[in-house]
Amino acid sequence: MSSEQNQAVVGIVGGGLVGSLNAIYFAQRGWKVELYELRPDMRLPIHRESRRGKSINLALSERGLSALRGTGLNLEKTILKASVPMKARMVHIGKNGTQMSQAYDVNGQYINAVDRAKLNELLLDEAQSLANVTVYFEHRLIAADFDNNTVEFMTSNGEKKTYRNDFIIGADGAYSKTRTQMMRSMRMDYNQEYIDTGYCELSMPPVKDLDGKPTFALDPNHLHIWPRHTFMLIALPNPDFSFTCTLFMPFQMFENIKTEDQLMSFFSENFNDSIRLIGEDALKSDFFGNPRGSLVTVKASPHNYKDKSIIIGDAAHAMVPFYGQGMNCGFQDVEVLHQILDKHHIKPQTNKDGVIVGLEKALDDYSKTRVKDAHAICDLAMYNYYEMRHAVTSFKFLARKKLEGAIHSVFPRLIIPLYTMVSFSTLPYSKAIDRWHRQTHWLNVAMMSTTIVAATTATFVGFRYRDHFMSSVTHVVDSVKKLKQ
Ligand code: FAD
Repeated sequence: MSSEQNQAVVGIVGGGLVGSLNAIYFAQRGWKVELYELRPDMRLPIHRESRRGKSINLALSERGLSALRGTGLNLEKTILKASVPMKARMVHIGKNGTQMSQAYDVNGQYINAVDRAKLNELLLDEAQSLANVTVYFEHRLIAADFDNNTVEFMTSNGEKKTYRNDFIIGADGAYSKTRTQMMRSMRMDYNQEYIDTGYCELSMPPVKDLDGKPTFALDPNHLHIWPRHTFMLIALPNPDFSFTCTLFMPFQMFENIKTEDQLMSFFSENFNDSIRLIGEDALKSDFFGNPRGSLVTVKASPHNYKDKSIIIGDAAHAMVPFYGQGMNCGFQDVEVLHQILDKHHIKPQTNKDGVIVGLEKALDDYSKTRVKDAHAICDLAMYNYYEMRHAVTSFKFLARKKLEGAIHSVFPRLIIPLYTMVSFSTLPYSKAIDRWHRQTHWLNVAMMSTTIVAATTATFVGFRYRDHFMSSVTHVVDSVKKLKQ
């Protein structure tokens, strides 16, 4: 570095999943990293304790894994060791608890249930172990002046603090303050949409096996779904043999359940087999004690303001959780951002004018690349809500899945199921959807042609052998008449 150059400082707002991973990537590229997090350090025993029973698990799939792998550290292995593989959906169909397993992939690929808090802790540990990363906890972003490279925070003891960063990244979640500050400086298109559905978490404890050892109450290698058309219950396994269940349903339905009796009759009507597994008392205390979460989709465009700032993760594209892609997409943002910084040969240095040469072009390129993919997965996540709570039980849906899977296993490049493209590849989301639309067209043609050929054959056979057919019918009718006599 010449005397006219300085090491560039990147300020990352939000030490959640995406912000902490991004801190690792930037530190590894030689930037000085300042990571600002609103909450206290989640790894401290006192905060661990307060989190008990509240942690939720997430499905981690290829896009997220690829970004973890991209650090070159042991992150992927470490987190997979503490995860539970989910190879299929287990659909709980009727009141009597009939279950139907639907594999996620014909080649046996699977998604992984991971503990959100554990993953966040691991990422913070790695980030903080790097010499050029400083983490500031209990720092809430309150204002940003991007043109003058300053960010202002309120600390937990009510102190205001201002920092100077050469480049500011908002990884501060769906209700991002960084984003609202950017919107004051630029023309950012922004769209936010709540759905009428809320969610509530319930816990399903381990049971004892024949030897008295703890084990899972349900098959652990499945993501369990109780689809009920306008609402549903899901359950993901945890490494401690419990399941975290999430009840998704319209807010009005939550409000209609006011008493324990109403809750029990609602559950016995709709999720009867789960009552015994969750336990009646636990069900009542979780349902009435745990908060109702709301679900929001956020779309923004572009994601950057000149070479000054950028938003990533939920700050740029919050989505409903039904494709299990929010975090995966956020992790992929990090990987894509750094690929683009590499492509533009961005150095972690400012020149004598305090500019990071080429950064504006690189960030424009990032927005151009990533906005369409972010929008695509937001839309797809919404579509999957319909699929999970309704379509998974329809004959047409299952027939199409079988056909797709059968063609894919014989001609793996010709037809790739959408779920495989989204969860088991890193293909840009927008490309996956384009391909899916083209495939759907051809599958519809194939299904229609098959139906026409089958109908034509049946008509021809019926006509050709009508005499034989009619005499058989007469014979059957006579036999039935005789039986009745
Ligand atoms: P967040 O996790 O929201 O982190 C933002 C961080 O910024 C937080 O630590 C917050 O404290 C901090 N912050 C906020 N404001 C400020 C401020 N003003 N100043 C400083 N810091 C601030 N995704 C999947 O991939 N798979 C799944 O299976 C899945 N399941 C889900 C289930 C549910 C019920 C929900 C709600 C979401 C699910 N998601 C899933 C989505 C996933 O949780 C999010 O996409 C992911 O957490 C986004 O990470 P993030 O770091 O961008 O944002």
